[in-house]
Amino acid sequence: MPRALITGVTGQDGAYLAQLLLEKGYEVIGVMRRSASSDIIGERLRWLGILNEVALVEGNLVDLSSLIRLMQEHRPDEVYNLAAQSFVATSWRQPLLTGTVTGLGAANVLEAVRIARPEARFYQASSSEMFGKIQEPQQTERTPFYPRSPYAIAKLYAHWMTVNYRESFGLHASSGILFNHESPLRGIEFVTRKVTDGVARIKLGLAKELQLGNLDAKRDWGHARDYVRAMWLMLQQEHPGDYVVASGRSVSIREMVHMAFAHAGLNADDYIRVDPKLIRPAEVDVLLGDASKARQKLGWEPTISLEEMMAEMVDADLARHRAKMSAG
Ligand code: NDP
Ligand code: GDP
Repeated sequence: MPRALITGVTGQDGAYLAQLLLEKGYEVIGVMRRSASSDIIGERLRWLGILNEVALVEGNLVDLSSLIRLMQEHRPDEVYNLAAQSFVATSWRQPLLTGTVTGLGAANVLEAVRIARPEARFYQASSSEMFGKIQEPQQTERTPFYPRSPYAIAKLYAHWMTVNYRESFGLHASSGILFNHESPLRGIEFVTRKVTDGVARIKLGLAKELQLGNLDAKRDWGHARDYVRAMWLMLQQEHPGDYVVASGRSVSIREMVHMAFAHAGLNADDYIRVDPKLIRPAEVDVLLGDASKARQKLGWEPTISLEEMMAEMVDADLARHRAKMSAG
């Protein structure tokens, strides 16, 4: 039975990746940081019905010794580093924490692999945010980076450390440059989920309006369920590498918002208010990925459209709020 260790297992991607690997017959070790709220922290795994199937172990990205011990104890065949301070807006308010967890934390995981489990295959969760102020209209693995936030800068360090450990020590280390991907399990502070939660609350009479920031930014969105499959495929290749994972379609926040409201039979213009406090100090105006390499080498294809995903997310948030209302 192959064994995978996932950092960030309590997050959106960690939950979907754990589900995929369990379906494929893996033993899944999920690294969880100690928290006073650990009883509610496994909610995403519970939502997918796999909380009891994942072996949850304690560790923290900023504690190298905890990571080395985990490698020694569990001897994973595959290590997926998904843990991060992952919210761009927070990265300006907590830039040093973001650098420590999202940047140096990845280096800690690479060090733990190099020291204690060099035969393991390693995946780094890199981000399209690294392209930032885009240098080419459609971004590939060869497009130069121009990060625009402390988050993106930390991710860039982690990305190059992954490339460097591959080249320096021969680790089977791959970096997935994933464009935005969402789902009903997306953190509520990210724009798609904030919108679908807002739509549900407005529809059910729990709110009257929704405050948003820059509606003109454009993103290339996909579904997390499709994107975690690309992570797994990267680690099944004979040789490690870097891959852009994207849908190849760029849509404005405004258009996505209209899509979500329309699914609930509402007109977004009646409810959206722009709050200048939500405008970022530096913006990534537009992202559009070219996943040709992933298509050709991994045989990867996205299967869920933005429209289908937004509908699934609105329906899930409606169901969540209805359940809360009927529970009183
Ligand atoms: P989430 O924010 O949902 O999950 C982040 C995870 O990291 C959580 O499990 C969190 O634990 C954990 N974590 C945070 N700090 C630490 C720490 N110090 N030690 C151990 N674990 C920690 O992110 P996603 O699932 O959306 O994304 C997964 C990865 O992919 C992230 O690295 C993200 O930056 C990256 N990425 C995501 C994209 C997206 O569109 N979703 C796009 C490109 C890259 P806890 O539950 O305790 O907070
Ligand atoms: P990001 O691409 O990782 O930063 O993902 P987000 O979902 O946080 O943001 C995507 C885009 O939506 C960015 O250009 C934001 O400026 C824009 N946006 C507009 N309003 C909001 C909002 O209220 N919350 C968030 N999170 N983003 C918003």
